[in-house]
Amino acid sequence: MLFKDLGLSAELLRSVKTKGYEEATPIQQQAIPLILDGRDVLAGAQTGTGKTAGFTLPQLQLLQQTYNENQKRHPRVLVLTPTRELAAQVHESVRDYGQYLPFRSAVIFGGVSINPQKQKLIKGVDIVVATPGRLLDHVQQRSIDLSRVEILVLDEADRMLDMGFIRDIRKILNIVPKQRQTLLFSATFSREIKTLAAEF
Ligand code: AMP
Repeated sequence: MLFKDLGLSAELLRSVKTKGYEEATPIQQQAIPLILDGRDVLAGAQTGTGKTAGFTLPQLQLLQQTYNENQKRHPRVLVLTPTRELAAQVHESVRDYGQYLPFRSAVIFGGVSINPQKQKLIKGVDIVVATPGRLLDHVQQRSIDLSRVEILVLDEADRMLDMGFIRDIRKILNIVPKQRQTLLFSATFSREIKTLAAEF
């Protein structure tokens, strides 16, 4: 299946073309229409399958459909990842695929100074890619407002559980609005993942 048959906007098709892709991978073919339809999605996908574009492209399109340039920016999409490396990679994809769209994004992870991240957040962003611990630091210091998140993505959810982030994830899930779209990507579906998914 070609990207142009997936119902994506002209700006997104242009960025996909800039990347040099024409055919959608199986996870993209399956996930993109469901996400555009507003569904919650549980997806089994390893790294290398094209999963990042599978959740990034439709989330950008959903933002685009209801974008109001006069409204003050606030985080509408939150992507949680287990590591800073993955957060940086996902953020790069958000920038690449969103290069012809007006959205602003920030990447947030620990091990570096919190102040530049705060400044970025204060200026206003639409999309936040974060690791759980540092995100909660920002919540505690009130430098981020998660009360209007519309789409929550848990990327590599199994790795986040393996790394002991379950309590942080539960906290974050309780802060974001109940009324939202949730996308959970995981290479494996252990009992813990199924329990987490069922809970939320
Ligand atoms: P991911 O599974 O998201 O880590 O993506 C793995 C790699 O595949 C990344 O380098 C992507 O840029 C690339 N990729 C994503 N979608 C496609 C596609 N439809 N065709 C070819 N490569 C892709």
